[in-house]
Amino acid sequence: MNAHVLDGKAFAAKLRITIADHVAALQAGHGIVPGLAVVLVGEDPASQVYVRSKGKMTVEVGMRSFEHRLPDTTSEADLLGLIAQLNADPAVHGILVQLPLPGHLNSDLVINSIDPAKDVDGFHISNVGLLGTGQKAMVPCTPLGCLMLLRDHHGSLAGKHAVVIGRSNIVGKPMAQLLLGDSCTVTIAHSRTADLPAMVRQADIVVAAVGRARMVPGDWIKPGATVIDVGINRIVADDGSTSLVGDVDYDSCAAVAGAITPVPGGVGPMTIACLLANTVTACCRANGLAEPE
Ligand code: NDP
Repeated sequence: MNAHVLDGKAFAAKLRITIADHVAALQAGHGIVPGLAVVLVGEDPASQVYVRSKGKMTVEVGMRSFEHRLPDTTSEADLLGLIAQLNADPAVHGILVQLPLPGHLNSDLVINSIDPAKDVDGFHISNVGLLGTGQKAMVPCTPLGCLMLLRDHHGSLAGKHAVVIGRSNIVGKPMAQLLLGDSCTVTIAHSRTADLPAMVRQADIVVAAVGRARMVPGDWIKPGATVIDVGINRIVADDGSTSLVGDVDYDSCAAVAGAITPVPGGVGPMTIACLLANTVTACCRANGLAEPE
């Protein structure tokens, strides 16, 4: 195995220390404590795990965590009412509605009811538009975490050919926008892309955000390329044990790539750290204070 391992777990731990320092300075200098409200509707087990760890890390960096757990029978009117209340609450600087929502709720309507200034997930249509036009936006956490790892490893990304596999609104599209913003030449691939292997072989940077276990094999990777694996897939072994794997086949890709993120311990920890960073940013903007870099 030759590739340099991009250790998202260690990077995120360092980032959380910087965030905690910033939070402490906000409190000491201005008497302000950033607050993050997380809304979970229903009993989805994976969502419950995410919400629990988001709440824990929010408190660990010294911020306030407000958790709202609602039954899966919650009406759209009640959910919109809660969001209106959080929008108006000065102690809440960031609002996150955990997706996916139960089927009877209109996710677009719900997300677009969040005050864009508190939309720390960056999914509100205003933030999507701001990011797309290169203006100051709340940037979706997972792609932001990927960008941080790439910048840390490469320095400048200018001129590199990035192939993003996946075109979802939460990962693929904003990832492509961010890479374009850093002057990469960007290709977005998806399930209808003709000859995906040939496309990926051209990439200096591959970002896989597909949701298919080990889909990308090492012989798709250009020697020395950087591979960012966003995928989180739970697989069951013959003996019934389960484990998490990414969208790339780690061993064969690591043998060819110049750098690669592991799963777990790569992009995943960066996502929560970026959520905390976005909450501090939202808090600073709300109070007219200098933002963390
Ligand atoms: P979506 O299901 O919303 O999107 C998947 C994308 O992959 C779609 O654009 C789809 O194409 C494309 N795709 C599916 N099959 C193929 C194929 N055979 N070849 C090429 N493209 C394909 O997923 P998300 O973007 O929400 O998530 C992607 C992965 O990232 C998942 O494993 C998810 O768990 C993980 N994830 C990880 C996070 C983290 O913190 N690490 C955060 C968010 C997600 P089409 O549009 O044509 O259907």
